[in-house]
Amino acid sequence: MLSDVCNKLHLMKEFLRSSYGPTARLKQVHNNIGGSVVTSSTSSVLLQAVASSQPIISLIRSSILNHVSRFSDCGLFAAVFCLCLLEQAGQCGLRKNVMIKVNKHLLALCTGYLQQEDCGCKVKLDFCSSQSLITLARSVISSKPTCVLTEPESGHISRLAVQAFLLTVPCNIPDTVRLGRTVTITIEGHSVLKSAVFPGLLLSMPENLCFDSLCSPLHVVLFSISLAGDLGEIGDGRIEMHQGVDVDSQILDQLLELGKQVLKDGVKLFLCQKVIHPVLQHYLRCNGVIVIERLGSKNEVSESTSVLGCSQTEYLLAAEAFCHSLELVATSLEHDGGTSLIDLTHAHHWTLPSDVTEEHLEGVMAPCGCGVVESCQNKTQSYLDTKYAGFSPAPLLTAAPLQATVLDSFTAKVNALGVAVETANLVLDVRYVIQDVN
Ligand SMILES: [Zn+2]
Repeated sequence: MLSDVCNKLHLMKEFLRSSYGPTARLKQVHNNIGGSVVTSSTSSVLLQAVASSQPIISLIRSSILNHVSRFSDCGLFAAVFCLCLLEQAGQCGLRKNVMIKVNKHLLALCTGYLQQEDCGCKVKLDFCSSQSLITLARSVISSKPTCVLTEPESGHISRLAVQAFLLTVPCNIPDTVRLGRTVTITIEGHSVLKSAVFPGLLLSMPENLCFDSLCSPLHVVLFSISLAGDLGEIGDGRIEMHQGVDVDSQILDQLLELGKQVLKDGVKLFLCQKVIHPVLQHYLRCNGVIVIERLGSKNEVSESTSVLGCSQTEYLLAAEAFCHSLELVATSLEHDGGTSLIDLTHAHHWTLPSDVTEEHLEGVMAPCGCGVVESCQNKTQSYLDTKYAGFSPAPLLTAAPLQATVLDSFTAKVNALGVAVETANLVLDVRYVIQDVN
């Protein structure tokens, strides 16, 4: 039973690992009873698609999905790191409670390092220029091969993403700053380059919307009462009517009268906070009016921390498992059998194609993965998955601000790191699984 879980975890790790990074491999997921086929390399899509009856897998899955729902990035990093930690924990044979304590302790060390002002993992942002923000957006977008975007298209979408973000920042600074929200709506049949940002409040998005039919200014009508034709909202009064009158059709006639008036007034957007009678909706839509009923909204929340007590040997073994897991995540960026190098000065990362031979390794003349370090001198490099002496990465001293070509969201990454360790610890702490089989 235990080895069955381990096999499933290993399979899940390999599956997600090969979907990681800018050269990720796409996955096609379909279940054995038919149904829709999902193609993606994005963690949120893949994890939604691979439901498992194994409670441990479900736990990891929902933990990562929760991270992605809040940060929209670094889901695969979290998942792969978590699964590597679990696999390493199994292999090093330490007591689980020691593993858990050391993992917590090392996570606190990592987080402390990352939060330092001069930490080398951070890039100073120049807010007079949107270039860094666009680079960040582009790093995320260009790592999604399913989007099949051309260079100009991913550039355009990256700029729009930044523009949309900037529009969420309030102009006046109140006591507590709350960012607005960006909603992305996909419309079939249009060029990616025609995508645009519209500031304002999105209430609902009707299907088959054609932007060409919208002219501005737009005449809008909003009702807060029900237009369903029911009589529930007229209060306690009495209604008198002639015998033989069909109330329903009388009400419908009135509603259609309203519809005619709306058309006469040139209204293009017809909104109602409650229900609209289907006949009235049909009438308005046939005449080119966008109709939206039952206007509403939604929300979300979540959070956790550390202690220690073990022998030095245990500590070192656990620390090695932790570090090796992190390295495994970095080597997961390469999918063509190539190798990963680290420079032992600044700790930046290079991937080399598999056809590079030992002789060619006299320094790498290409920039590192993030583009900040231009080349890696001989003797200052090491294979990532080999042993090398521990060191503290030296800061890069350059006159000009660093120009990274690939940027990750810092907050998303830091959170993903925490989620990975905490989820792994949670799984390590599981003693019994009690399941309702009904
Ligand atoms: Zn780099």
